[in-house]
Amino acid sequence: MFKLNNKVAIVTGSGSPKGIGRNIALTLAKQGASIVVADLNVEGIEDTVRAVEEAGSKALGIELNVTSKESVDAMIEQVLAEFGRIDILVNNAGISQKVTVEDMTLEDITKVFNVNMFGLFLCTQAVLKPMKEQQFGRIVSLSSVSAKRGGGVFGGAHYSASKAAVLGFSKNLAREIATDGITVNCVAPGLVNTEIWKSLPKDDARKVIDGIPVGRPGETDEIASTIAFLVSDEASYITGEEIDINGGSHMD
Ligand code: NAD
Repeated sequence: MFKLNNKVAIVTGSGSPKGIGRNIALTLAKQGASIVVADLNVEGIEDTVRAVEEAGSKALGIELNVTSKESVDAMIEQVLAEFGRIDILVNNAGISQKVTVEDMTLEDITKVFNVNMFGLFLCTQAVLKPMKEQQFGRIVSLSSVSAKRGGGVFGGAHYSASKAAVLGFSKNLAREIATDGITVNCVAPGLVNTEIWKSLPKDDARKVIDGIPVGRPGETDEIASTIAFLVSDEASYITGEEIDINGGSHMD
């Protein structure tokens, strides 16, 4: 357990019922952080807010579209009005699509980059001012094993490319703001036990599992606990890092 009392954390995409974001929200809440539950999914937001409150932390639900600067700016304004600070941003909102490059359209690739990279840029840029003023901040972004080994689980080349872009963006930003007390890191999960995993046909699932030395998909807890460490005071000297969480399916 890490002490995250008095910390305010925004977790984008935390309304997904079986998703990684909800678990991140809950895990940070259990360690004392106040949580901003931000998502497109209004019903999902309400459920996560309830779960965070049941865990004993404050929660603020905000309908957010990460691809809209207006929506992102409105969220930041609301968070600062409610809590007066922003300590942690977890860029978790993301989309994927299974399509080959031959069949991919410019619209497909634009849609994926709009959420996974440009939306992440808008959210990240928007927290820099309050974090610089505090001289404290923790930014963690969800990349993917697909960025590093070129897919192999679910999603097309556009997904891999967008998640690779997240790695380069984060490392460059980590250098820019290293002296402001703000760290910027990524996690690169392999296959996680979420809706995507459950939707895979049995044969495809077997093939994926055969490529994972640990022999099973990761659990959302296993992603969230690594993020809890990265946003803690204890991880103050870790920046520009990417942590693989993939059961050994890819080793650098
Ligand atoms: P998920 O689909 O369950 O949840 C994603 C959430 O993002 C949803 O609630 C959705 O409403 C929200 N979202 C989508 N577009 C949005 C937008 N424009 N604005 C605001 N919110 C938006 O996904 P998940 O499986 O929990 O994945 C979470 C993150 O982890 C993603 O970035 C994903 O790429 C990454 N990841 C997942 C896996 C996996 O196996 N599930 C593996 C590696 C990386």
